[in-house]
Amino acid sequence: KIKGNFAKNVTYYDEDFKKSKDFAHKITATMEKALHEGEFLVYYQPKYSLATEEIAGAEALVRWISPEEGFMNPGMFIPLFEKNGFITELDKYVWESVCKFQRKAKDEGVQTYPISVNVSRTDLYNLDVPAFMTELIKKYDLEPEDLHLEVTESAYSEHPEMIIEITNRLTDLGFVLEMDDFGTGYSSLNMLSDMTFDILKLDMRFAQNHMENKRQNEVLAFILELAKRMDLGVIAEGVETKEQAENLRFMGSDLAQGFYFAKPMPEKDFWELLKNL
Ligand code: C2E
Ligand code: MG
Ligand code: MG
Ligand code: MG
Repeated sequence: KIKGNFAKNVTYYDEDFKKSKDFAHKITATMEKALHEGEFLVYYQPKYSLATEEIAGAEALVRWISPEEGFMNPGMFIPLFEKNGFITELDKYVWESVCKFQRKAKDEGVQTYPISVNVSRTDLYNLDVPAFMTELIKKYDLEPEDLHLEVTESAYSEHPEMIIEITNRLTDLGFVLEMDDFGTGYSSLNMLSDMTFDILKLDMRFAQNHMENKRQNEVLAFILELAKRMDLGVIAEGVETKEQAENLRFMGSDLAQGFYFAKPMPEKDFWELLKNL
């Protein structure tokens, strides 16, 4: 009986594994063409001030609308692109799209806010990101503050000295750095003093669990106090309810992002939102 169950599980595993391998092959074969044919779209999710509930920025989040696979969230392809290196091609495209958006907003007199782009750890290995970003903002006649760069905390887990050196160079150039998914467990508190980022972007768990979980609430209070002492901005990500937003404001978080305020939206919807402010 035990043997039978085990055999059954093995079969399931093989089928899932094969499926995911087929999927990986399929998207690897089509990714470059998809980029050239404009199948990757940049969505924008606004960030809000908790004090005023006014818009304070946005994050650019990529989506892939494939004729074969349909609408895909980044969770389906980014991990693969980080492995095969294509993420850097895609990210350059996303960053440039954001610069075009900012240029157009300035040209048309629409209120602009800093827009955050995600920078993968793979990008920091494969590309001279400070040089690339400098050229890019020059090309579109933008200021470094027009872009915020989100680097995930886990980027620091391997070769932290190298990542710290690059991110320090980016801050020296005037780019604003946000440490994404902060609190997911990779950075030691000791390392925080070597990093020169500007904003702590708290992992969603903090926004979502702190009211039910007393211990988590204490950790959140501690992080907010630490941020204040270090003169760092704080943004809470994944805020889904009014109660979460109110409590985060009460506890001292500056900014928030999440479905309670707005979901990631196509560029033209974000443009309309800014135009109608
Ligand atoms: P992230 O940078 O931490 O982005 C936040 C994710 O949380 C986004 O998922 C966003 O849609 C989602 N989110 C926002 N508010 C809420 C909420 O209230 N509740 C819940 N449950 N989720 C919320 P998304 O767009 O699926 O992106 C997932 C991850 O993929 C991102 O996490 C980021 O690490 C990566 N990613 C997305 N776009 C890019 C990109 O252009 N380049 C790179 N390198 N990575 C990207
Ligand atoms: Mg992010
Ligand atoms: Mg995040
Ligand atoms: Mg994330």
